[in-house]
Amino acid sequence: MRELTSPTAVREIIRSHGFQVRKSLGQNFLLDANIIDRIARQANLTVEDLVFEIGPGLGVLTRRLAKEAGRVIAVELDQHLLPILAETLADYPNAQVVHGDALKVDFDRLAQEKTAGQFGPQGKGYKLVANLPYYITTPILMHLLTSGFNLDLMVVMMQREVAERLQASPGSKDYGSLSVAVQYYTVPEIVIRVPKTVFYPAPDVESAVVRLTRRTAPPVQVTSEEDFFRIVRASFGQRRKTLLNSLAGSGLASKEAWQRILAEAGIDPGRRGETLSIEEFATLANTFCSSTR
Ligand code: SAM
Repeated sequence: MRELTSPTAVREIIRSHGFQVRKSLGQNFLLDANIIDRIARQANLTVEDLVFEIGPGLGVLTRRLAKEAGRVIAVELDQHLLPILAETLADYPNAQVVHGDALKVDFDRLAQEKTAGQFGPQGKGYKLVANLPYYITTPILMHLLTSGFNLDLMVVMMQREVAERLQASPGSKDYGSLSVAVQYYTVPEIVIRVPKTVFYPAPDVESAVVRLTRRTAPPVQVTSEEDFFRIVRASFGQRRKTLLNSLAGSGLASKEAWQRILAEAGIDPGRRGETLSIEEFATLANTFCSSTR
């Protein structure tokens, strides 16, 4: 079995298949066996686990996951990688590659189709481990979080700047609507900081691995998740504006109505949106809901 963790080995397998690395698909392949091992260990895999991977690339992380998990289903968009994966995963019958776009995949349905309900019963969810294609980090995260998939744990590598945003606290420069959404559904934790040098080709940005543990219940109670997230997005819409002016510009209610809602919620209208905690956003959204219904 070919070794895949040196620049020479990676160049050789790419060359022998006439493969061209596509930067536009976020293709930066991992070279460091130690980092691959550390990522896999964060998922605490056992033979009872079905683990999804997004973008297996050359299959280097996939192989590591397949050594411990019961099943690996890896979704790869680039069809030119399929013959390479057929070769690198030949000795791993429990790893299966699906050609498709991870942004459009229904992971629960895929699990049913590919494993006939063999994994994930009795409330136990699936896991997802990936070195994400960075150009779609945010939409992929939102797809994974908001579609209600039965994913208990995600261990995902992304650009460090986005990773910092996921676990940012109110008032910090990294705190934004992505932080609120991710912290509403999960407990995020940066577990590994990864330098550019462990990839081929090296990306332009530094990376980090984030462990996202799905919450069994949201940290706040909201009357309508849709209104909660609409208000969160509106509040972060224009960072230099006051909360009142951002909300008034959102079209969700008039400025006078927002003045009343903010007063009733006990939130100073002169504050900036980025200083509000998730609890305050929930109070604001619930007050909005009760005043407009
Ligand atoms: N897992 C490999 C590794 O760590 O070496 C490759 C990771 S590379 C950063 C991202 C991978 O995602 C590439 O193989 C790329 O072709 C694939 N990819 C890009 N967009 C995708 C999408 N929408 N759905 C699934 N895979 C995608």
